[in-house]
Amino acid sequence: MNPERGRVVGVDIGATHLAIVLTDFSAQVLHEIEIPFDVSKGPKICLEEITVQVHALLVETGQTLEDIQAIGVGVPGPVVIEKGTVIAPPIMPGWSNFPIREYLRDLWDTPVILNNDAELGALGEWAYGVGRRVRHLLYIKVGYGIGAGLLIDGKIYHGATGAAGEIGHITIDSDGPLCSCGNRGCLETMASGRAIAKRGRDLVAAGYSMRLKKNSFNGKITVQDVASAAQRGDIEAQEIVREAGKNLGIALANLVNLINPQMIVIGGGVTRVGDLFLEPVRQTIKECSLEAAAQDLSINAAVLQQRATSMGAVVQALSLAFYRLIEETEPALEK
Ligand SMILES: [Zn+2]
Repeated sequence: MNPERGRVVGVDIGATHLAIVLTDFSAQVLHEIEIPFDVSKGPKICLEEITVQVHALLVETGQTLEDIQAIGVGVPGPVVIEKGTVIAPPIMPGWSNFPIREYLRDLWDTPVILNNDAELGALGEWAYGVGRRVRHLLYIKVGYGIGAGLLIDGKIYHGATGAAGEIGHITIDSDGPLCSCGNRGCLETMASGRAIAKRGRDLVAAGYSMRLKKNSFNGKITVQDVASAAQRGDIEAQEIVREAGKNLGIALANLVNLINPQMIVIGGGVTRVGDLFLEPVRQTIKECSLEAAAQDLSINAAVLQQRATSMGAVVQALSLAFYRLIEETEPALEK
């Protein structure tokens, strides 16, 4: 198909970031933005803000919403696909059962498709990234929270109610820190960007890690502060990152034994830390999974990096756009 035939938009709504890409029909990225974002402001404020950003992106490329054939949207929570809603998402307070897809469709007057962000990450890496032609692929998004997209036998596995892949709430330590879901010691409290930042703050409050203290701005320690202290040789910061990687590795080893994937792709903001984080993940998966399940397993960092989810949203938007084009063309052919 002629790439110039149309345009689609992919939107990645993160807990603390928003990424939007505009592509042609060959998924060539024409323009993109990534900005800080706060999903906890609730659906109405957030969706208005996203609308402003989508318009701004289109204006910069000389387009309007009328030029867009479909928009794919990813959110960091369990999605009920038929309804276009999320259900009880721990890191999206106020969003449960809000009609996200309908609301955006009315606002934009364009077809909209809503999916879970990690599932879109799996789809993005499968279509355009490191996982091309892989039939059994796990995509793990490690950012503010942690989620997984499960591509099993060439299809995204959603589960009975759309909540499959909520690996962030697998229990690692039942006496561990309190999680946003109400349980204790979930993976998200022990390996996410939020968990790494919190451990950094605790360390400085206890009088350790002078480098980290020096790095921090107004005592507000972020995951980037911990990462850069670790990269500069701060032993305590390195230990935080290593421990987080090990905890993620334990959860993934369990998943490897359960699903027997060909490939694990690790994406999300925390992977910017690099091998300091990824090496203990790889090592722990190797140590803790069965040889039969892990013998041909490859473990990769996401090639699309921050774009994995938004490009997955583009995959969905393109399939919606093509489906509609075929529907429009077929009656004409029958005449
Ligand atoms: Zn939890």
